Amino acid sequence: MAKETKNTLRDSVYSALKAMIVTGQIQPGSRVTENDIAAKLTVSRTPVREAFNRLERDGLVTGRPRQGYVVTEFDITMFREAFEIRELLDGHATELAAAAATEQDKARLRAMLAECERLAAIPERTNREKFQELEVGIDLHRVIAEISGNVMLHNMLCGILDKCQHYVWTELLWLDEWKIARDEHAEIVDAICAGDAARAGTLARAHVRGSRDNVLRLLQAKSDYRNFLAKAS
Ligand SMILES: [Zn+2]
Repeated sequence: MAKETKNTLRDSVYSALKAMIVTGQIQPGSRVTENDIAAKLTVSRTPVREAFNRLERDGLVTGRPRQGYVVTEFDITMFREAFEIRELLDGHATELAAAAATEQDKARLRAMLAECERLAAIPERTNREKFQELEVGIDLHRVIAEISGNVMLHNMLCGILDKCQHYVWTELLWLDEWKIARDEHAEIVDAICAGDAARAGTLARAHVRGSRDNVLRLLQAKSDYRNFLAKAS
């Protein structure tokens, strides 16, 4: 029981800090320390340190010796590169998964879709519940890669997804694309369950491209706005 309480605190500190970063409450490029966050969330430094470690692995912050952490800035080059590779890997993994999926695998994918629907149906949901849905949505791609049966492909895609996670969150939080993502995930799972490799791969690639275009639109709008403010002042 004590262990469970500890895990819950750890997870909620991680989710809270992640939400602050992804929603822009803590601006990209700004510096934060364990003390700042511990005070803000009224918790001890230990769960905060663990949360920062996890966020560093997610690519959301970078640790600086004795100076705390810097929130990752949007890097359009890294973003383009990551999504280019993701399109290839995700498309290929989804094709392989459609050919390889067992009944058990299909049930697992359907259960993940059902979990997303359940989380989506919660009225006036909290940020934490939104993040849970996002995580299940991203995990769906990890599970598809696992089902593909190619271990190296699975590991590579997981690494890329960690890097993309930041952008996917941003996209969903700012552009309100939840319903579209849910529908596309359902179509991909349907194609896998039907064993239609060509269709599954095509849908997965289109899904990644759509996501990339949304984020590019968002980044462009943000930079236009910054230029506008710079000229106005
Ligand atoms: Zn997706």
